[in-house]
Amino acid sequence: MHRPALSVVIPCYNEAECLEVLHARVSAAARAAVGEDHEIVLVNDGSRDASWAVMQRLAAADPRLVAVNLSRNHGHQLALTAGLDLCSGAQILIIDADLQDPPELLADMRAVMTAEGADVVYAVRRRREGETFFKKLTAAAFYRFLDRVTDTPIPLDTGDFRLMSRRALDALLSLPEQARFIRGMVAWVGFRQVPFLYDRHERHAGETKYPLSKMLRFAFDAVTGFSTAPLRWASHIGIALFFLSFLLLIYIAIGFFTGSAVQGWTSLMLITVFLGAVQMLVLGMIGEYLGRLYVESKRRPLYLVADVAGPVQGRATLGY
Ligand code: UDP
Ligand code: MG
Repeated sequence: MHRPALSVVIPCYNEAECLEVLHARVSAAARAAVGEDHEIVLVNDGSRDASWAVMQRLAAADPRLVAVNLSRNHGHQLALTAGLDLCSGAQILIIDADLQDPPELLADMRAVMTAEGADVVYAVRRRREGETFFKKLTAAAFYRFLDRVTDTPIPLDTGDFRLMSRRALDALLSLPEQARFIRGMVAWVGFRQVPFLYDRHERHAGETKYPLSKMLRFAFDAVTGFSTAPLRWASHIGIALFFLSFLLLIYIAIGFFTGSAVQGWTSLMLITVFLGAVQMLVLGMIGEYLGRLYVESKRRPLYLVADVAGPVQGRATLGY
């Protein structure tokens, strides 16, 4: 099997308008970095637009391009996993399809990798252009929250845009979980990882494929995948409530003996409702982990491939 010097892996969901410019810019950047010895892996994550047709056309014209068509929309992290499974390069660049992350930074990232002897060069967003205030605020809050609750130090303000060595990628691919938070999993893998600061641009075309619902799912997977702190909070809340109710008991007992017994229906209701709410919250937290266990225990393949256009040299095409 020939191992190209570089693989560029790109998950795409409804990105038809971006693909041609993306292909041109990524090709040029890869060529400038390693010459002809590279491959570009485009993964079509069940797009509803013309993405797959455009990919097939591009693959027919460029022997360095492999296009993979998943059987349906499996989500960003799984589409990315499909591309990573399939690629065969000695170095791997992960990049989004919307050109928010400039492919031209590849040369500098490779230079950092060589200079630092690193296995992973992860791009840290210094600025984010063309994104809503809400997105920036929630993203900033999310990364800081995650940093507090996880045991694995996951770099702040870092997306999936990164350059990896083959051994770091193979280590990443050996993690079998279904609910994947890839930037966290890469951090967990270890080796020498160095940051690379850059300014994030606006989308080339189209709009974000991460609506609030997907962002929330993503955040839940990140927290539950890398931390059991919420389960600990559940028991902390329980202990705190136990002491509170003990104090309450004393208060009631004093009332009983001094004759000023409480007839307070309101306070009773308040406590009942409050306790009910806390119980639901704690149950919900436990449920998140239980659900995760259930999903993992099914051991389904991570994704299914429907078609491939172009030469495939990498691993099997059916996921795990
Ligand atoms: N994406 C995907 N499947 C999805 C959603 C997104 O493959 O279900 C891809 C998308 O095409 C893009 C990348 O994941 O290449 C990041 O998505 P997007 O740019 O919409 O996210 P944002 O930059 O707004 O966080
Ligand atoms: Mg984007």
